[in-house]
Amino acid sequence: MKKILQDLTFAQIEELTLALGEKKFRAKQLFEGLTQGKTIDGITSLSKDFKEKLKAEFENEPIKIRERYLSSDGTEKYLFEYADGNLVEGVLMKYKYGYTQCISTQVGCRMGCKFCASTLNGLIRNLSAGEILSQVLLVNALHKNDVKAGAGKSARAVTNLVLMGSGEPLDNYAEVVKFLRLVSSEDGLGISPRNISLSTCGLVPKMYELASENLPINLTVSLHATEDEERIRVMPVGKAYKIAEILKACDHYFKKTGRRYYFEYTLISGENCDERHAKGLVELLKGKPCHINLIRLNEVKERDLKSIDDKSAYRFLGVLEKGGLSATLRRQIGVDIGGACGQLRASYLEEQPCD
Ligand code: SAH
Repeated sequence: MKKILQDLTFAQIEELTLALGEKKFRAKQLFEGLTQGKTIDGITSLSKDFKEKLKAEFENEPIKIRERYLSSDGTEKYLFEYADGNLVEGVLMKYKYGYTQCISTQVGCRMGCKFCASTLNGLIRNLSAGEILSQVLLVNALHKNDVKAGAGKSARAVTNLVLMGSGEPLDNYAEVVKFLRLVSSEDGLGISPRNISLSTCGLVPKMYELASENLPINLTVSLHATEDEERIRVMPVGKAYKIAEILKACDHYFKKTGRRYYFEYTLISGENCDERHAKGLVELLKGKPCHINLIRLNEVKERDLKSIDDKSAYRFLGVLEKGGLSATLRRQIGVDIGGACGQLRASYLEEQPCD
């Protein structure tokens, strides 16, 4: 696979442009074209000669949309294909304040969570910073006409990001941090780190490292249990990092960044959603600067785990609220276009003959 231009900062694009014998202002045209989600060929302001030189070294189209699904509630789901044929998925959720895109950081995942479809075939490979960025550039470009008139030159359709697609972001640490800097850079899309949420299964040493990056993103931890033994049953990574260590790392994150943190808690029937668990969560998190997002399990057909009914989910939420926790039960959106992270890719791979 060739290199990709989306991995480069504006300063590096400038250097490259000069090295290829072009005038400096061409760098701006090239960078702007890339930020607008264009292929090298698609940037009409550049000469044919320059484009040929670029294409000799760099991929013309590092990513494309292989499938696009539209939900009746406006949510969109994509299957992206990279230059080497690898597939990842993404979701776009439309809210009043703007569009939130859910992005993937790895092809597959090696964390092995029992309820998750992304991990079914293990980790295939890490995505580079530019490959992750390409997901956002492409989807933002696709919706450029949705930007409200008069919203300003730097306005963009995609305003918020969640790193909750396939992969464990902190298992691809260097590229993910580089991506966060690229996507929030004022030269580029300029998406504020405050509008970006990174979700992790709790890789404690990397959580400490992230706290020192001076990137005020929202940290979310997938908790899914209140005791280590029960957590390990659904999240094997719990063997390496205990809940107490995770909570300490979260507090450290709060001290360093001043940002409250979030927990994801997927409700799985018979595993983690009895009253005892709700009370356990209250004990564990009482007084902490955090918010809890309860998620209904999206049933994955390869796993025999079941979701709980709405009444039980609201009862669970009620116990948390009564205990003084800040918590919400996440609304289900886009259910008609194929479920949880990894499910789309998994079902797609299943349909494709393997060679
Ligand atoms: N690896 C990261 C981010 C990817 S998953 C992490 O573990 O946080 C994003 C969120 O979706 C996580 O909270 C994950 O536990 C949850 N999730 C994965 N599969 C799910 C499913 N089938 N139903 C509901 N939530 C799921």
